[in-house]
Amino acid sequence: MELVERLRILTAGARYDASCVSSGSQRKKAGGSLGICHSWTEDGRCVSLLKILQTNDCIYNCRYCVHRTDRDGPRTSLSAREITELTVNFYRRNYIEGLFLSSAVKGSPDQAMETMLASVKILREEYKFPGYIHLKGIPGAEESLLKKAGFHADRMSVNIELPSAESLKKLAPQKKPADIFNPMHFLERNRREEKGFLRAGQSTQLIIGASPESDREIISLASYLYDKFSLSRIFYSAYIPTGDPRYIPGVQNPPLLREHRLYQADWLFRFYHFSFDDIIPPAQNDLETELDPKAGWALRHFEFFPVEINRASYRELLKIPGVGLVSARRIIKARKEGTLDFSDLGKLGVVMKRARFFIICRGRRIPGLPGDPANIRPFLTMPASRPRQRRLFAPPGGE
Ligand code: SF4
Repeated sequence: MELVERLRILTAGARYDASCVSSGSQRKKAGGSLGICHSWTEDGRCVSLLKILQTNDCIYNCRYCVHRTDRDGPRTSLSAREITELTVNFYRRNYIEGLFLSSAVKGSPDQAMETMLASVKILREEYKFPGYIHLKGIPGAEESLLKKAGFHADRMSVNIELPSAESLKKLAPQKKPADIFNPMHFLERNRREEKGFLRAGQSTQLIIGASPESDREIISLASYLYDKFSLSRIFYSAYIPTGDPRYIPGVQNPPLLREHRLYQADWLFRFYHFSFDDIIPPAQNDLETELDPKAGWALRHFEFFPVEINRASYRELLKIPGVGLVSARRIIKARKEGTLDFSDLGKLGVVMKRARFFIICRGRRIPGLPGDPANIRPFLTMPASRPRQRRLFAPPGGE
């Protein structure tokens, strides 16, 4: 098979791994279209990466996976030399700033890991490649291979994929939980002990919607993983129905809104000082889809509001819907120059459309707004269900 065709298959195949900030976006350049994704370096820069599989040829039969062994479709691979030359060429032309290299399990976990390791070794040692490298850790691969890989890669991810041991057993019966968690432990230990090992940490991916776990179970697992492995990120990937329908029936479309809500919840407990129970109350199993989790908390805890913008602490500001990390910091700074009023807040990045129900400035509320959760709620829900002014003469059948 021609190199261009292999490249097309292996960049398309890599889209199913969500372990980067944007997956599968395409950047057209003179040289054709590339699979480009983005990631954050350890110093907070966003970098664009060539996202590619070393191979889509797999000995495993994970039932949710497009590369599973019993699925028809072309199988192909790139050699370590081909991966490195592609990466270096695209890097020199300024198409990319690094490489995101993943792989199916061709031959055995060790063989797959060795081939990827050979690619990054050539890149770093022969080409002195200075770009960012994200490398997949293959579950079940030898620790000695993971260790060598961790000195060449900036970040590695061992994907958990299924959020419970029962689902792993049902949908990926050839993988054992230990094949996944032992490498994660190993990478974390080395990251703490060895200088220059995975400077941008490790991440993992959870597939959403292929198995029956609730949002409560998923968030609880995520919170445990952040604590236990100091993960840089968890990526939530809405299940794309390319798996075996005999095992995963009834999924017509990827649950993208659910994925989005889980990302929002994840940010709340990582950066906004919300607890697990704040995000998803004990009586609830799933996040509301029509309301974001921060707005949901604010409406359930209306006793906390209104917050006086001129006196609130940084943490109190972060609880207000429409106030983010940056706008909260800007408010604190701007208050040192003088007392703030509502007209100042938009310029500081506050989304007033949301925040206006929950704040006061100089002891005053914005007049004319509803003041109770039930009446505020419709203004914060998804656009489709947001109340609209009815026209006097609605078209037949409604709007
Ligand atoms: S091991 Fe990875 S590539 Fe192979 S079938 Fe399972 S999820 Fe897919």
